[in-house]
Amino acid sequence: MGVSPELEEKLVREFPQLFRDYKSEATCMAWGMTCGDGWFDLVRETARRVVALDSDAVALQVKEKLGGLSFHIVTQDRQAREICIKACDASQRICEECGCPGSLREDLDWILTLCEECLKKAHKRVADAEAP
Ligand SMILES: [Zn+2]
Repeated sequence: MGVSPELEEKLVREFPQLFRDYKSEATCMAWGMTCGDGWFDLVRETARRVVALDSDAVALQVKEKLGGLSFHIVTQDRQAREICIKACDASQRICEECGCPGSLREDLDWILTLCEECLKKAHKRVADAEAP
């Protein structure tokens, strides 16, 4: 799962300084942003607040980890780091697929934050994949 390429490009264009290592082989950004479109607004808002506090901050990783958003940055600004931690908390109440209110789901083979609808779809995908 990943943010749609066009949404990713939008973020990189909007925050070129923060995402200056985007797709750089040297960091985890080599794989782009590996979280769902539902978190796009949250990622964007987090980026905006971080850049406002520290224009020199650099993002090392933006990905989904154990159902939460892992927004990893290098910064000297303690407040900016806290914003990233809060974004992880907030992401656990936002469906990663569609952005609707969601909650942590642990009944699939992996942990995801989804709304009821997307959870149903995920179960269906699993069932379809297991059908002979
Ligand atoms: Zn959803």
